[in-house]
Amino acid sequence: MRAEPRCAQCDSEEPKIICLRNPAGERYCGRLCLYQGQANFIRWLTRSNAEAAS
Ligand SMILES: [Zn+2]
Repeated sequence: MRAEPRCAQCDSEEPKIICLRNPAGERYCGRLCLYQGQANFIRWLTRSNAEAAS
């Protein structure tokens, strides 16, 4: 079984960008997916921070 990296956002093959800010090390095929993936990640971070504060 080959574990080919896929774009975390659109699931396309051969993603070239690795998101170093994300601890999961997710990969993205392009800037748009990187941007969207980071937006999701930041939203998730903000939400978990808000839950921790309450
Ligand atoms: Zn993509």
